[in-house]
This record gives sequence, structure tokens and C-alpha cells, in this order.
Amino acid sequence: MELYELTIHELKSLLVRGEVTAEEVTSSLFERIRKLEPKVAAYISLSEEAAMEQARSWDQRGYQDTTAVIAGVPIAIKDVLCTKGIRTTCGSKILANFVPPFDATVARKIKEAGGILLGKTNMDEFAMGSSCENSAFGPTHNPWDLNHIPGGSSGGSAAAVATDESIAAIGSDTGGSIRQPAAHCGVVGLKPTYGRVSRYGLVAFASSLDQIGPIAKDVRDAALLLNVIAGYDHRDSTSVPTEVPDYQQSLVEGLEGITVGIPREYFIEGLDPDVERAVKDAVGVLEALGARAIEVSLPHTEYGVAAYYIIAPAEASSNLARYDGVKYGLRSRERKTLMEMYRKSRSEGFGAEVKRRIMLGTYALSAGYYDAYYKKASQVRTLIRDDFLQAFKQCQVLAAPVAPTAAFGLGEKVDDPLQMYLSDVFTLPASLAGIPGLSIPCGFTSQGLPIGLQILAPHFHEGLALQVGYNFEKNTEFHQKRPPL
Ligand code: GLN
Repeated sequence: MELYELTIHELKSLLVRGEVTAEEVTSSLFERIRKLEPKVAAYISLSEEAAMEQARSWDQRGYQDTTAVIAGVPIAIKDVLCTKGIRTTCGSKILANFVPPFDATVARKIKEAGGILLGKTNMDEFAMGSSCENSAFGPTHNPWDLNHIPGGSSGGSAAAVATDESIAAIGSDTGGSIRQPAAHCGVVGLKPTYGRVSRYGLVAFASSLDQIGPIAKDVRDAALLLNVIAGYDHRDSTSVPTEVPDYQQSLVEGLEGITVGIPREYFIEGLDPDVERAVKDAVGVLEALGARAIEVSLPHTEYGVAAYYIIAPAEASSNLARYDGVKYGLRSRERKTLMEMYRKSRSEGFGAEVKRRIMLGTYALSAGYYDAYYKKASQVRTLIRDDFLQAFKQCQVLAAPVAPTAAFGLGEKVDDPLQMYLSDVFTLPASLAGIPGLSIPCGFTSQGLPIGLQILAPHFHEGLALQVGYNFEKNTEFHQKRPPL
């Protein structure tokens, strides 16, 4: 086994026993990165020098008597999180030279827990997209088939974990951006409950939906990393001041007494037969482990795409107003008047999808249209949330596909925004409802592309999703498969 192949928990025990050093692991990862990046392009920026220095300093300090949970463990962070002194581009030309003067809370927590930052991963510009093709730095390639998308928007983070170019990674999920790329790359991704993880220092896309979470090689690592980043933060008024459980305690064997709801509306026309088969087989595995499966209904599911693609662009149009060429980010050279400077900076700095969202959102919020679009969408959002609350009266978790198909081809949907938006149909409802969702590998298509199983749980019950995922994983081998690179 190569050092770059280790999980967090494996690496931790080797470090404590003195059998490897963080320096050895970190340099093996950078070697791996140098070898694979020309094909995969998972990273936008690397911080090799700082990472090696951090690794050496942890090695010197030792791992015996530290409370730092991921001391000496190399991690990649999506380029949407501010990192002090390290360029944070958000996949956009407008922030191509932005070096934040502060760390996002999640970046700070990772550092304080001893994590070693390898670099910043590629993403759709401002996290808007499902394929990683909207990055101003070029697309990331799916490690299982380089002509396919890795998913988005956290495609770089998922690909980095799948290729062993990182031990684990951080992503963000507004409408599926952790779960869907994790599914498409064959790794584990967890979107926590809205409010579980601080968004301070996360470049805002749609503030009522954005959440940060782990992407990892297995469920245990995802649980571990969630504990590192979760918790109340006075700098984010939407972070919730409730106790964070030790998620390792959720990883108990057996699923007796757990009822798994299978939402009827997630098995519809357009669902790829390979995906349907894999998800149904996965439910069979859960039943064999003691769970009871029942059919449930989430009747407003079909309105999720429409509601999300009003609410998210509306919030984005407001959040992105700050990029005006004045305080930071790109400023156009052609600027005779102030208005011209604003206009040119934004025209040159934003890509096509971001401009589309700003226009959609501005339109939806404009006088006379607000009631018809934004208000209506917000009401639908409440209905979708209520669907989940009703369903969770009958079951503890829900099991469903993450996406209707496995990863599609590069270039296949990028010129057809509606098709791209529709591919989010199974991830958007949980985001609108604010509930946690776990994506775990559950099979492969006939073409050998990974398929993800989505496990949804009630607000602040990440532990339940982790428990179900852990048991599935213990009894299957999908998460151990690696792409042939
Ligand atoms: N694909 C969705 C979008 O384009 C979700 C993106 C995300 O979760 N950041 O908005």
C-alpha cells in the first residue's frame, strides 16, 4: 500500500505509532499530484512549501500527547473558502488574484486540528454548476473516465480524494455540490444540516442554502472530519448553538430498529436503469442488515428544481453585487467613468453561467415580479421542507439516488443550462429543506462509472445517516475501488 492511499484514521494510527512521518506522507501526495494533475486537474493552487513545513513541524512535535484530531493529516480545501495568504479564486477570473487576509472558520479549525493544507481545489465558478466545467481555470476530469465530468461544483475536491491526490477534502454544498461530485467520483460526501458548520469565510453563493462539509474515502473519515469543522461560531449568525455529538459514536454495527423510507418520487422516468438497480440493491443490503424499508412520498419533489433555480440565483445576484472592481478582485483597465468601471469589471470578470444567474436573480427580485417568483418559490420551499418532516414521522432516514445518471460527458450539457439544472433534481430538495445528506458509493454502471446512494436524515441527525452509511460500507466493497489511472 502506498502512503497516499491511506485514510485519515489509518494515517492517524500510523503517525501515533511512529511508523510514518507526516513529511513522508505529504511528499508522497505531492509526488502523486505531480503525476496525475496533468490528466485530472483537481487543484487550482498548491501550497507545497507551506505544507512540507507544517508536516515537519508536526513530526517534530510528535503525535503522542496532542488533542489535535487530525495532526499531520494532509487535506485539500475547495477554493471557495478563504485561506489566509493563499489565493482564493472561487473558480472565477474576478478573484483570480485575491489573497484573503483571514482564514474561514473551517480553514482555521482544520489548521488548529493539525490538518496540513495541500492546496485549493477546482470548482464551478462561485459554486454555480454541476460539472466543474464553469471554472475559469478549466474543467476537472472524472478519474474513472477522463472524458467525463467529475460532478460539481466541488468536482476538484471529489476528484482529489478519488485519485489519492489528497487524504480527504472539504467541499461546499448549496444544491448538491458535495453529494453529487462524491457520487460521480466514487467517494463519500456529507452535506451537514444547514447551520451545523460555520459559513464564515465561505465565499457566499446562496446564503440560505450554503453548507460546508467533508469529502472522504470512507464514512469513518467523513464523521471524523465533520467533528473537526462543526459547531457554533459567533461570526456566522446562522450557525446553530447546539451541542455537536461525537460522530464516531454513531458508527455502531447493525441497523435493527431503523426504518428506511424510499421516496417514490425519486424513482421516476429519466432515472438511469443502472442507477435504479444499484440503489435498489443497496436498499436490499440495508434490509439484510436489519433495517426495515418502506415506501414514502415527498409529493412536492417535482417543484424543487424550479424553486431552487429562483431562490439560489436571487440570493446570488445580491451576494455577487460586491464584485464591482472597487475593493478587491479584478478591475477593468478600460474605465473612463465609474459606471463604466463597474460594468466592464463585471463583464470581464464573470463567466457566462454566473452572468446568467445574476440576471435570473435580479429579474426574479425586481419590482412587480417578486411575488410571482421569489415569494412563490419560498412558499414551495416550505412545502418541500414539510414533505420531509412528514416523511420522518414514518422513518428515521431516507434512501435515494444522488443523481439520475452517473457522470455525463464533458461538454454534453454545458451549453444547455436547463438540462444541467435538471440533473440536480435529487439533491436540491434536501438543500431547500436544510436537512443533512450523505452520499456513499453503491455500485457502477455498465460503463464502469461510480453510482452514489443518498441517505437523508432529519435536521441535526447527521449521526443517523453516518450509521446507515457505515453499515452499508462495512458490508460492501464499492468504496475500496479506485479508478484505473
Ligand atoms: N448544481 C447546483 C447549482 O448549480 C448546486 C451547486 C452547489 O451546490 N453549489 O446551483
